[in-house]
Amino acid sequence: MFEFCSLASGSSGNSSVLILGGETVLIDAGISLKKIETHLAEKNIDPARIGRLLVTHAHGDHIKSAGKFARKYRTPVYLTRETYNNGLREGVDLPEEQIVFLREKETFGKLKIKTFRLPHDESGNTGFLFEHGGFRVGYFTDLGIMPERIFRDIQDCDFLFLEANHDVLREKTSRRPQHIIERNLSDKGHLSNEQAARIVERVVRKDASRKTKAVMLAHISKDCNHHFFVERTIRAALKEAADAVKILMAPEGKCSEHLKW
Ligand SMILES: [Zn+2]
Ligand SMILES: [Zn+2]
Repeated sequence: MFEFCSLASGSSGNSSVLILGGETVLIDAGISLKKIETHLAEKNIDPARIGRLLVTHAHGDHIKSAGKFARKYRTPVYLTRETYNNGLREGVDLPEEQIVFLREKETFGKLKIKTFRLPHDESGNTGFLFEHGGFRVGYFTDLGIMPERIFRDIQDCDFLFLEANHDVLREKTSRRPQHIIERNLSDKGHLSNEQAARIVERVVRKDASRKTKAVMLAHISKDCNHHFFVERTIRAALKEAADAVKILMAPEGKCSEHLKW
C-alpha cells in the first residue's frame, strides 16, 4: 500500500507523510508541531505511527519542529552528517540520542531508500528515492538544478514529488532584495517552473514505460508563482502525455490531496 500527503509546502514550512512498504515516514518538520498534528489528524494518520523522521536540510522551513516532534513521539531523526552540522551551526535543537546519520542507501524494514545530495545554498540538501516491490517514489524539493546522474534513478517513478518554486520573470521582477533573487535563480537556489517542466518531461514523456501515475509540484512561491503558471508549464511540456498523469499541487500551509493506491 502507498499513501502520500504533503502537510504543508513552501517557504512558510514543509512537511510530508509517506506510507510505503509498511513504513510510515515523516519527511521534514518545517511547520509547528501543532500544525503537523492537526494536519495528520485531518488525514486520519496517528503521529505515533510515524516510525522515522527524515530531514532534507537544515533550513528552518524544513527542520523547525524536528526536535519537538522527535522528542514527543520518540521518533528517530535521519539526516546527513552535513545537515546535522549545519543545524548545529544554526542552533537547531535535536535529541542527540535519536539521531541517525543517513547513508547513500538505507533500508527501513521492507522500504529501500536511496539518498542524493542536491545543490541548494552552500549547505546542500538531500533528495530521496523510496522503493518497495518495484513501486518507486522520488522526493526532490529545494534544489537549484537536478544533477544529471539522478535522472537514471528517477526515470520510472510511480510518483514524483518535485519543486516548482518560481516563474522566472516574476522572480526577476519581484521586490525581493537582489541577492535573494540571484540566489533563487542560481544553480544553488530553487527550481523554476520551466526547470521542473524539463525534469517532468524527461521522467514522464520520454519514458517509454509510462509508469509515472502522478506528479506533485511543490514549494510553490506565493510572491513569484501561481498554481496556474505551474500547471500550464508542466502540461505544455508533457503534451499528450499529460492526460495519462495526475498533475497535483502541494499547497502552502495546508494539506494536499491524499494519495492512496
Ligand atoms: Zn525550503
Ligand atoms: Zn531550503
